[in-house]
Amino acid sequence: MSWVRAVAAAMTEHEERLTQLDSAIGDADHGTNMRRGFATVVTALDDRPPGSAADLLTATGHLLVSGVGGAAGPLYGSAFRALGRTLATPDADLATALAAALDAARELGAAAPGDKTMIDAFAPAVDAFARRTAAGDALPAAADAAAEAAERGARETIPLQARRGRAAYLGPRSVGHQDPGAASTALLFRALADAAA
Ligand code: ADP
Ligand code: MG
Ligand code: MG
Repeated sequence: MSWVRAVAAAMTEHEERLTQLDSAIGDADHGTNMRRGFATVVTALDDRPPGSAADLLTATGHLLVSGVGGAAGPLYGSAFRALGRTLATPDADLATALAAALDAARELGAAAPGDKTMIDAFAPAVDAFARRTAAGDALPAAADAAAEAAERGARETIPLQARRGRAAYLGPRSVGHQDPGAASTALLFRALADAAA
């Protein structure tokens, strides 16, 4: 729950920046979508506290899919649902669950790395987390490495031309702006690192 709360706080804190990024190459609602979405999640989970971390993440996913408009809601929602579903299986670890979450978002959005989407932050973060976990790092160090990788991936969307989502309609005019979904993914992983620290 501390992660989901930290995400909600980060989305509120960075709402304006995310919306500004989306106003350059989208429809200027990403910050609002994310702030509202995670606020709804926190309220709902406070009302009916889930029994386990897996249930909490699955419920978060359902709430994001049904409650957040735009492209990002269903993408993040299916990622959280996959996280929860995977963590509910015996012996599942967070690295495996994060990989399942990334797969779910990639399957739904059909975006490849380099398409200038959230996947450009999500994929390197999941990779970094898996590498550090396999090397024996504990959760705080692995989550910090994942957050750094996501932040770098988000910055690296700036020179890319969008091939998925609303920004793709801009063609070459999408170059020179950071992808808003990649920026919110970096916030999600930074919140995970903060919650794990
Ligand atoms: P909308 O574009 O519908 O207004 P948002 O503004 O909330 O939705 O989210 C936009 C973000 O969603 C983009 O910056 C991008 O990162 C992500 N996105 C859009 N389409 C896709 C896709 N097909 N695959 C992965 N991510 C996507
Ligand atoms: Mg938008
Ligand atoms: Mg929109």
